[in-house]
Amino acid sequence: MRPFVDVTRKKLYMRQRLLFTHCFVALTLVVGAASARASGELQVTISNSATFSASQLAVVEAAIDSAKSMWESVITGYQPGINVPALNVTITSGSSFADARTTSSVLQGGFRINTAGTVRINPGVIDIFASWDGSGPDPPNTEFLGVNYIDELLAHEVGHLLGISQSNWIANGVYQAGSGQYTGAYGVAAYRAEFDPTATYIPVEQAGNSGTIANHWDQLMRSSSQEGNPNDPWSLSPLTGITDSQGRDLGLELMTGAIDPDYGEPFLSNMTVQSLRDLGYTVVPEPSSLSLLLAAFLLGFSRRIGF
Ligand SMILES: [Zn+2]
Repeated sequence: MRPFVDVTRKKLYMRQRLLFTHCFVALTLVVGAASARASGELQVTISNSATFSASQLAVVEAAIDSAKSMWESVITGYQPGINVPALNVTITSGSSFADARTTSSVLQGGFRINTAGTVRINPGVIDIFASWDGSGPDPPNTEFLGVNYIDELLAHEVGHLLGISQSNWIANGVYQAGSGQYTGAYGVAAYRAEFDPTATYIPVEQAGNSGTIANHWDQLMRSSSQEGNPNDPWSLSPLTGITDSQGRDLGLELMTGAIDPDYGEPFLSNMTVQSLRDLGYTVVPEPSSLSLLLAAFLLGFSRRIGF
């Protein structure tokens, strides 16, 4: 792989059928704490675990725990009319970097819901990014030395399997191919509250390779030929200038198309969380709380523009 940490090489083969050539071995992590849920478990299995070293496996297992905790802390279940026992995620080695593929989905309650998928991760990536070595920038950036980016990488890929992808967006009526505009009501409302009060859509990535384009929120894709310089990506910034109240730039959001280790760890926005409501899930906060938040936002908005 090139030194630049780049999720642009992650490819989403959402329309391809996976050939189940893997032998399922070893570890199965089943969510115990979330078993009270009416339906919807995030179940993660590591396949071909022997292709990871013991230390790599330990990193992946920790990342699985982290990703599950993160998503389960914000997803409370499915919307009415949906009864899906689990999203089954299989982790395996492969890819030049990391990628996610949906392997089965169902149509229920007016939504397309994924029920299974595979995440591939290159073992070499684990070695470098479980404790970032500062490689890439010149002069080297030491601020984020030692940071573990595998947790976020795995959470990102699981996010795709939860439905954050062009194919699920289109199937659920919140994206039109080629538009660059996510229009799901809950996601957009959260984006307005969080990043841009006048927005009518969430900007969607239009640069990078075919797996990156239209499958992520927008950032400046500095390794792409469309927006950056593939030969010297470190000289550019992924930041969009669109920030939340904490000053966090949209370009560093978890579901943008690249991890930028010299800028720090990706963060999960409420925009991403609420967008899952557009895709058939229930999430925190519950609607009553969300209504309150929206009301508060609208009040603040009206004050800012003076009516
Ligand atoms: Zn991705």
